[in-house]
Amino acid sequence: MISQQAQQIHDRSLVWDTHACFPLNPNSDLSELKRYSGSGVNFVSLNIGMDMDSFETIMQVLARFRSYITSHSESYILALTVKDILEAKEAGKLAIAFDLEGSEPLLGNLNMISFYYDLGVRQMLLAYNKDNRASGGCMESNIGLTDFGRDVIREMNRVGMVVDVSHMGYRATMEAFEVSTAPVIFSHSNPNGLREHARNISDEQIKACAKTGGVVGINGIGDFLGGTSSELIVENIEYVMNLVGSEHVGIGLDYVVDKQELIDYIKGHPDVFPPEKFNDYLSFAEPEQFPEFTELLHQKGYSEQVISGILGGNFLRVAENVWK
Ligand SMILES: [Zn+2]
Repeated sequence: MISQQAQQIHDRSLVWDTHACFPLNPNSDLSELKRYSGSGVNFVSLNIGMDMDSFETIMQVLARFRSYITSHSESYILALTVKDILEAKEAGKLAIAFDLEGSEPLLGNLNMISFYYDLGVRQMLLAYNKDNRASGGCMESNIGLTDFGRDVIREMNRVGMVVDVSHMGYRATMEAFEVSTAPVIFSHSNPNGLREHARNISDEQIKACAKTGGVVGINGIGDFLGGTSSELIVENIEYVMNLVGSEHVGIGLDYVVDKQELIDYIKGHPDVFPPEKFNDYLSFAEPEQFPEFTELLHQKGYSEQVISGILGGNFLRVAENVWK
């Protein structure tokens, strides 16, 4: 049960989910977006593809997502500016932008960054678990950033796309914090300090991210949390908060709508998803848990200002600083 007070805080806050996974196919069903609106979420970033997806698939997914949003304009809007997000909240609509998990969809071409930006992509990570031509991935070596990777970050800074370092290798993340002149985020990464996992991040990474003005989004994946309860998510939020301050933590729930698609990805790409590292990948925190995060933070005595920052104000601040 959500108390009336917590519900009011939730309703007044701008609630931001910085990463969600809908089916990546040309006829993708996006009807479950209403679960986000129904949970008081005001903005969600939809993944449009990962390093292992073909360019053809990514283009068709992007076309499908854009057309779904514009043909359901009574409920959803494509967020190209921060103003769009604030207006969507006023109008009771869900604002949506896109993200890329890995920079291989750039095809090695820096011009693709502004091309994707114009189509609504507002954040991108450089490598997805495995090393690629831009960066080291968290499941592979520790190569850091390549010269191309450094150029990608400079171009993202110029264009206004948020540099996201989830899924990247340790050294690559630390180098990205140095190269980027704009705040850098971990859109969906949890602290190793609470649970060791190759996808989780060290205190040092969290501190360096905060130093750029960035935000760490806590994800709801069973493997990385050790469960999917709202209590565990709030414990992870508090861990980051105690380390670097409440203004550097948010939520990137990483909810996966199509479980079978995820099973196929994981089985089809054992190099990207080493089987020994993924045991509990089919349990996720659900979008409906968002109000519970507010309730638990409220019960713990945090102020409305702190709670609103965690729910979305912090990621909004990054967008205000980075998006053009
Ligand atoms: Zn991810």
